[in-house]
Amino acid sequence: MTVTRVAGVASFRTFLNRLRNMVSTESELDRLRFELAASTGDVWEADLTLGRLKLPRQFKERLGYEPGDIEDTPESWARLLHPDDREPVCRAWVDHLKRRIPYAVDYRKRSKDGPYRWFHARGQAVWNDAGRATIMAGIVHDITRYREAEARVDFLANHDELTKLPNRTLIRDRISQALAQARRNGAQFAVMFLDLDRFKVINDAYGHPTGDALLVEAACRLRRLMREEDTVARLGGDEFLVLLPNLRRSADAYVVAQKILDAFEQPLALASLQAHVNTSIGVALYPRDGHEVDTLIRNADVAMYRSKELGGGVYQFFNSEMSRQTQRRVQLETHLRLALGRNELEVRYQPKVDIASGQLTGCEALTSWLHPAIGPVPPSQFIPVAEESGLIVPIGDWVLQTACAQNKAWLDAGLGPIAVAVNVSARQFLRQDVVAWVMDTLRATGLPPRLLELELTESLIAEDPDKVAATIRALRAEGVRFSIDDFGTGYSSLGYLKRFPVDSLKIDQSFVKNVGTEPDDEAISLAVISLAHSLRLKVIAEGVESAVQRDFLLKHGCDEIQGYFFSRPLVAREFEEMLRAAVMISIA
Ligand code: C2E
Ligand code: MG
Ligand code: MG
Repeated sequence: MTVTRVAGVASFRTFLNRLRNMVSTESELDRLRFELAASTGDVWEADLTLGRLKLPRQFKERLGYEPGDIEDTPESWARLLHPDDREPVCRAWVDHLKRRIPYAVDYRKRSKDGPYRWFHARGQAVWNDAGRATIMAGIVHDITRYREAEARVDFLANHDELTKLPNRTLIRDRISQALAQARRNGAQFAVMFLDLDRFKVINDAYGHPTGDALLVEAACRLRRLMREEDTVARLGGDEFLVLLPNLRRSADAYVVAQKILDAFEQPLALASLQAHVNTSIGVALYPRDGHEVDTLIRNADVAMYRSKELGGGVYQFFNSEMSRQTQRRVQLETHLRLALGRNELEVRYQPKVDIASGQLTGCEALTSWLHPAIGPVPPSQFIPVAEESGLIVPIGDWVLQTACAQNKAWLDAGLGPIAVAVNVSARQFLRQDVVAWVMDTLRATGLPPRLLELELTESLIAEDPDKVAATIRALRAEGVRFSIDDFGTGYSSLGYLKRFPVDSLKIDQSFVKNVGTEPDDEAISLAVISLAHSLRLKVIAEGVESAVQRDFLLKHGCDEIQGYFFSRPLVAREFEEMLRAAVMISIA
């Protein structure tokens, strides 16, 4: 925003209007308005023939001087003028006296104890018949308060209130300047997009004041790391943007990114806790990755997103492959938004069987998506998009509802009883009302709670262990069962297992796949089996495709298996036939 000069009452009104839009305290504005109406200004006079200047007593008082402190001469008046204002004041006098342009000027005067105050002066000369100006008189207003308020408005418009860092407007401005400069002298520069990892978790768990304190600390740390000429801005939330102008070599950006990551290795010391937050960084370089402000910011954002996908705590430089992936993700999201309403989603059921007896023990509900034009989209592609966009909530509702209703229908038809397992992702689970959500669905469909199992991943548990543990306890008290999915792939400590009252562990298919060929993966599978058994948990092996794998697992005491060796995920009708056959066998 440009600085508005407070010239005259009319433009002061405009200024007030602008203030009203930006400053929330109406009373402050009212006071300024009142002061303006009340002040008529102090009258000054200059005798141009004698070279004498009569300064109003109030003017001297405002600056803290006694009447005798300042002589009534132009020289003593000029001595008090701020050096930067000498030129504009001289010009205003000359313009008025020579070209009769109205005299109106803002300037600063030094007060007796040092600081400058702002004044706005207007005046009018009197010319004699010979065309010589003889006297000049006018009014001077003290506008220090307005200038300060204006500076505050300017600051607010360009800075983030919480961290006092530049905001999006200001850094966009600076990037434009860097662009113009780099174009002129063929230089390069970097734009970095930063997002704090796990900020949301801390903010939700410890409350907003702690979240705010964390952001302020993070902002300080970033600012301290950077050079004077770099701009560090907060875009909002836990997102920051950094401009590194004038890079000598693009490799310097790597050094800076690594420096930021290293600095965030140290926890942030807050009043209530030591918060360990990493950052995910994306870097875009001019001219390589874009020639416009928005393109550079967007590409840095895309690269940051990639860092997040890699688990956070890393930096990534933009490349064009990333933008293709982003486009595909955006496209998928658009299609996914419509998929529910268009009945393109379907729940399939994959049997789980008892490894020793070969009997059907339950099933896992897996969501599949058949888009009429794109064809089948695997969950590994659309579930992350659904989680990211929040669509996982309505989709997850629908899956739970469908799976429970289906299982109740089978129960009513005399097939089963079997438990149906439904996958729940972090975004669904961490919302406020999981217990109510699950219990309402069970009530609405009439499925007994013991015939529902929820599959959670280790990373979900790590997000907010206390809340997850409390929810599991509450639902288990109602009879709902829990398992930990993809066990062995997450980073949760084994200590967690004791705290989470789950019923079973599912050995991840990446270990099962290599049973018979990779001794390490065999060792992990065995370790999971014995660990689970020592905690009195059931073990299910996922992705069992061959008799070799089945035999290995059987020999080492695994309880159940799930995988193509027995059956692929089936549509409801096919699974129903399998259930019916199982009932026949058990009767026979
Ligand atoms: P998951 O829960 O671990 O599900 C097992 C995955 O392994 C399924 O993949 C299943 O089709 C596949 N699979 C089963 N047996 C075999 C086998 O013998 N060999 C091989 N190679 N794969 C096998 P799918 O259906 O592609 O689902 C992938 C993941 O997507 C699931 O992993 C689950 O994490 C997630 N997912 C699926 N449906 C839902 C859902 O409704 N909600 C949520 N939140 N996540 C879901
Ligand atoms: Mg699963
Ligand atoms: Mg799994």
